[in-house]
Amino acid sequence: MASGISFTLNGTDGKARVGVISTPRGEIRTPAFMPVGTAATVKAMMPESVAATGADILLGNTYHLMLRPTAERIDRLGGLHRFMNWEKPILTDSGGFQVMSLAGLRKLTEEGVTFSSHVDGSRHFVSPERSMEIQKLLGSDIVMAFDECPALPATEETVAQSMRMSMRWAQRSRDAFGDRPGHALFGIQQGGVTESLRGESADALRAIEFDGYAIGGLAVGEGQEAMFGVLDYAPDMLPTDKPRYLMGVGKPDDIVGAVKRGVDMMDCVLPSRSGRTGQAWTHRGQVNIKNARHADDPRPLDENCTCPACSKYSRAYLHHVFRSQEMISGMLLTWHNLHYYQELMAGMRAAIAAGRFAAFEADFHAKRAQGDIDPL
Ligand SMILES: [Zn+2]
Repeated sequence: MASGISFTLNGTDGKARVGVISTPRGEIRTPAFMPVGTAATVKAMMPESVAATGADILLGNTYHLMLRPTAERIDRLGGLHRFMNWEKPILTDSGGFQVMSLAGLRKLTEEGVTFSSHVDGSRHFVSPERSMEIQKLLGSDIVMAFDECPALPATEETVAQSMRMSMRWAQRSRDAFGDRPGHALFGIQQGGVTESLRGESADALRAIEFDGYAIGGLAVGEGQEAMFGVLDYAPDMLPTDKPRYLMGVGKPDDIVGAVKRGVDMMDCVLPSRSGRTGQAWTHRGQVNIKNARHADDPRPLDENCTCPACSKYSRAYLHHVFRSQEMISGMLLTWHNLHYYQELMAGMRAAIAAGRFAAFEADFHAKRAQGDIDPL
């Protein structure tokens, strides 16, 4: 591991792991959930508020930031941490996934990807070398290798060819990253839902040697059963003494299932995005605050939650401000959702450390099975 960053595994319970990633910008307790700060902000949240929910690290999107305001401008302004007022660690994705999902007029070659910006149509080129340069300009603490994620459904041959190119790009990313004390580079396993391809990819990454290993190409519409099917073997293919990061996951039950299978880090827009559309995640499942049943309900969203939305406001108020399209609606529900996600992670960390993860998981599912509290 690069000097200045280390991973300590403090305990296991079955395949579930509890540990700490130490960085010059602070410790990341694992299993960790990373809120997504797409455009240098976790939407509707002040950075201080994100930290108050218990987040140790944020994810920034290379694709969005390179287009607007550009990595060069962020570098001139002192780097992404200073620019967005977040002093804790930041992980940046490589841009590859969003180039493939958001950009127009893509041309993919062995060298890299040329594409049109979804913002203004301007032409851009990203390669493993350019992705490493952008993430360095941003000042990211954990840098992701540049990879390609084939659109699904795809044939096994297409997935194999794409994975092998991503492994060549992983080597180019490693070479371009160089030696940067205090900064980590993670490789990304690909191979779709084919065990032999996942194994080939893991072997290629281990030969290159990374500071951490991501499991890519999942949470792209394959469904939970197929995802868990891959997670039954994919984490085991990666080194035990390095963090394992499942990209783009997920719903609370996806997260619990991934941690059970040996995943240490995850990120997802879901808690913040759903907070802006009136969806709340609680111990008893999903609550749709726009539903008329909440209009006269003086009770909190979740009586056991200590977040501002639950400790200071009623369901009736949250319903009203959502219906009135007031900004505080997205602010309060996003805060609650991020708080709930971080509390879930803290609960799992404590359960793994105490050797009672199975009981935690059973209780998690039992509470959700009850559904939301009965209407008044
Ligand atoms: Zn709450």
